[in-house]
Amino acid sequence: MQKPKSKSGVKSVAGRKAAGRRGPRSRYSTAEVTEIFTRFSMQRPAPKGELEHVNPYTLLVAVVLSAQATDAGVNKATRGLFAAADTPQKMLELGEDRVRDHIKSIGLYRNKAKNVIALSETLLRDHDGVVPGDRDQLIKLPGVGRKTANVVLNMAFGQPTMAVDTHILRIGNRIGLAPGKTPEQVEDLLVKIIPEQFMRHAHHWLILHGRYICKARKPECTECIIADLCKSKEKTCDIPAAIVPLAN
Ligand code: SF4
Repeated sequence: MQKPKSKSGVKSVAGRKAAGRRGPRSRYSTAEVTEIFTRFSMQRPAPKGELEHVNPYTLLVAVVLSAQATDAGVNKATRGLFAAADTPQKMLELGEDRVRDHIKSIGLYRNKAKNVIALSETLLRDHDGVVPGDRDQLIKLPGVGRKTANVVLNMAFGQPTMAVDTHILRIGNRIGLAPGKTPEQVEDLLVKIIPEQFMRHAHHWLILHGRYICKARKPECTECIIADLCKSKEKTCDIPAAIVPLAN
């Protein structure tokens, strides 16, 4: 049981100041974090993102299109788009109107079509049509923010980045793995606490865990392989589910 912080249950000012100076901390020890990710790695030895792509450029476009859209919805639109254009040059030849036609089932498609054309132009002009493996360069591209850059660096370049989406933000806070008010706070803490050997796949494991098990409205704790380790007040079960290896 958690120790009350004071008789009133409210942290003292000194305590709050001290906590503020320290910043948010994980509620899990290194051994517990290692155990959590060991289980994720046993469940999904080679997780893949669910966004379909054929090269770093189409991955970048797919991630840009995925803002406020589901991966399944993006895949439906990009199958035709990438068959027509899988390089920045071909995308420019296709033109904004036809890009828009391909992606009009996706939210914010007008703006996204503009960004796809603009980022293709920038890639050709500044990077010889090649997606840069560098965050500072990536976030200069139209429509590319830190999260998109992190996904591309992780998936296309194998860099140990942590792209914090809505699922990871929720899990970080719900279970106290990496509490933080902003995606950047959660990202920084996760990068700090996750052992290096798990960083390559950590963001996929957390996203898939959030999408299928630790869901937003009602976590499926009886199906959860880390239920015994979880420190969330919301959990409804202490017995971990058996680890069954999954393809993704
Ligand atoms: S036990 Fe429940 S709350 Fe904890 S991680 Fe699993 S699904 Fe989420």
